[in-house]
Amino acid sequence: MAAGVAVDTRHWIGGRRVASARTFPDHSPIDSSLLAEVARGGAEEAAAAVTAALAAFPAWAATSREDRARVLHAIADGVEKRIEELAAVETADNGALLRSHLRGVMPRVAQNFRFFADWLLTIDRDDFETRGHSNHISWDPAGVCALITPWNAPLMLATWKIAPALAAGNTVVLKPAEWSPLTASLLADIAAAAGLPAGVLNVVQGYGEEVGAALVSDPRVARIGFTGSVPTARHIAGAAAANLVPVSLELGGKSPLLVFADCDLDLAVELAVEQYDNAGQVCLAGTRLLVESSVAEEFTRRFVARASALRQGDPREEATDIGPNIHPEHLARVDGFVRRALAAGARAVIGGGPHSELGGLYYRPTLLTDVAPDAEIVTEEVFGPVLTLQTFDTEEEAVALANSTRFGLAATVVTSDVARADRVTGQLVAGTVWVNCFFVRDLRAPFGGARQSGVGREGGDWSFDFYCDIKNTVTAPK
Ligand code: ADP
Repeated sequence: MAAGVAVDTRHWIGGRRVASARTFPDHSPIDSSLLAEVARGGAEEAAAAVTAALAAFPAWAATSREDRARVLHAIADGVEKRIEELAAVETADNGALLRSHLRGVMPRVAQNFRFFADWLLTIDRDDFETRGHSNHISWDPAGVCALITPWNAPLMLATWKIAPALAAGNTVVLKPAEWSPLTASLLADIAAAAGLPAGVLNVVQGYGEEVGAALVSDPRVARIGFTGSVPTARHIAGAAAANLVPVSLELGGKSPLLVFADCDLDLAVELAVEQYDNAGQVCLAGTRLLVESSVAEEFTRRFVARASALRQGDPREEATDIGPNIHPEHLARVDGFVRRALAAGARAVIGGGPHSELGGLYYRPTLLTDVAPDAEIVTEEVFGPVLTLQTFDTEEEAVALANSTRFGLAATVVTSDVARADRVTGQLVAGTVWVNCFFVRDLRAPFGGARQSGVGREGGDWSFDFYCDIKNTVTAPK
């Protein structure tokens, strides 16, 4: 059991708790307290989990869709029953706001299971004929799915992959991030209590370069689903290439938020301030504010007033808007980006460093101007509460700036001109574009990134296409 929380931090393999000889410490970003010593797996545990998942595969794959859907709904029920506990543990573990976990994230975790359980029953296509022969398409389970997930929204992002993988009839080995390993372990208990057979969902804990690398290299794995950073994605894609295994990569971003002079400026400011959510640790965050010159001064004035009213502090408190960043190493990385930008001539309109009174892992919401288009702070993902502001004079310039990084995850356009919205969205390179809104997400929609923001799409049909072997059966006329 963990020291600070009631979570079993051993691996979950084949329906049993399994310890490792070594452990690693898991600290809370809120106050750096030790939450748990967690099992530190390696090649042996990865192999054992794949063996268990492989053994469980035939029976789960042969389970009817309706029965699989029933179990997934039962898991969702289990999540809903334990929302307060899940939210409290996740907040302690990754420092994101308790109120967001309670009202947004954990309900969405349950929804992930419900959605893919229901969607499973809709994926049939009508048969069609070729010279009297019928073509019948089926979505067959692929086998063992290795899922590697990050720390910024641990259970939400893990279940976004686990739910369709299980719904499709696969078995899963999940490797959660070592900075926030706890709720994945609770999910294993919830799934078992909901009737998911032993070995269908396995959780191995440990460092990415150890247990994670061993897991994705295992030739018995049929699919690799990954959400995380570009450098890690290169390792994972390399392992997938060696075994010729389909891989889905959801990576980072440096998304633009375009503010045109014709827009509702208060809306633009609201949307811009939202980019500080989760202390900026959101892959979709629109961290590059691109503002039409004629309204830049007024936009900045209103933005500063609004951002200055944000309350920073303990993420367990209802009134808090911005909590801590995840880890000292990560905070140092965020601060390094800001320091180098300031040294290169950027100006901090607000923020510009760690929070001096709160200390710990709290970083002040920061807005930097006077940044060169090719500056590191404009082109690299910071993953902290740090925004840059650049101005433009024409629509063409706005689009060119928006598309000027190696990423292409998302973009937000704020304008009151419908024709302009159409023109601009058509030219943006991004997996998701929001017009006059942000973060509205439907599980039926494709989600993923262009360029180095990812490979593949998930959501609705796209998830099942990835997690299944799609078969066409052609039958001759009788
Ligand atoms: P982040 O910047 O979000 O921490 P990472 O890409 O470092 O992103 O981590 C995302 C996930 O990838 C984590 O679960 C981490 O343990 C895992 N990971 C890191 N390195 C490897 C690797 N070489 N092989 C497999 N998984 C890895």
